[in-house]
Amino acid sequence: MPIALIVHGGAGAIAPQRQAAARQGCAAAARIGWEVLRQGHSAMEAVMAAVVALEDDPTFNAGTGAVLTAAGHAELDAGIMDGATLGVGAVAGVRRIQNPILLAQAVLASPQVLLLGEGAEALAATQGIPFIDPMHFVQSYQRMPSQPLPADASGLDHEGKHGTVGAVALDAAGHIVAAASTGGYLGKPEGRVGDTPIAGAGFYAEDGVGGIACTGDGEAFIRMQVARRVAEALGRGMDAQAAASQVINVVQTRIGGTGGLIVIDATGRVGFARSTVNMSYAYFTEGLSAPVVGI
Ligand code: ASP
Repeated sequence: MPIALIVHGGAGAIAPQRQAAARQGCAAAARIGWEVLRQGHSAMEAVMAAVVALEDDPTFNAGTGAVLTAAGHAELDAGIMDGATLGVGAVAGVRRIQNPILLAQAVLASPQVLLLGEGAEALAATQGIPFIDPMHFVQSYQRMPSQPLPADASGLDHEGKHGTVGAVALDAAGHIVAAASTGGYLGKPEGRVGDTPIAGAGFYAEDGVGGIACTGDGEAFIRMQVARRVAEALGRGMDAQAAASQVINVVQTRIGGTGGLIVIDATGRVGFARSTVNMSYAYFTEGLSAPVVGI
């Protein structure tokens, strides 16, 4: 079976001074994930390694780089799906977790599918998953160049920080895993949850079909079940790139939702599409010695 891996670092209008860091962060995460796959490890291990690297890079609005809500604290969401078992693990609204994707993976191993806030953090404590001082997010925000909280920051083409992250991998055994992690959007209302921890909306994986990870207007992506819609297009025989472009187009024309997504189909073909000005991404497929990187 061919192997493949793709990551993204969020859709939106990425300010010119942030573009090099976004490209480099995606390339670095793709290299980390690809090395895991190349050494014969699983898509699960590759996706986890790539998403942890993206969460640890303050360039991105996920993990340590997460933005603040209107109430002035960070609330992070993440989700992962194992295409071999159709298992899902997700967390929403966690405030003290350094790598929400690690906690999502712990939920995947539990009987539950989605845990919120303090309940999710209680699981983290039992699993030895690292906590972070919530003040970290406030202090990093204060260090950013003057950024007043916009009254309505929900549009992706404003200058607020973007950088939801995602990764999809196909391993040599034919297993596909997809994952996503985000801080949501700058100034979001307290308690708001978007598509990132919602299977079928922000991410989806099914062996023999494909894997998808999304970024964009979370509410639109939930309403249109974007990741699932791409999987259905793949299931009808559409190739990865055509499916990505078609679904991103439908979300925009049908309900005005903008964003982007990455996809790998069951044969290892990669696709990506965006309706925003930018989306940072990087991918490896068989035969490449360096990642293809774009924004
Ligand atoms: N989809 C994310 C959310 O709605 C935001 C983003 O991807 O920029 O929380």
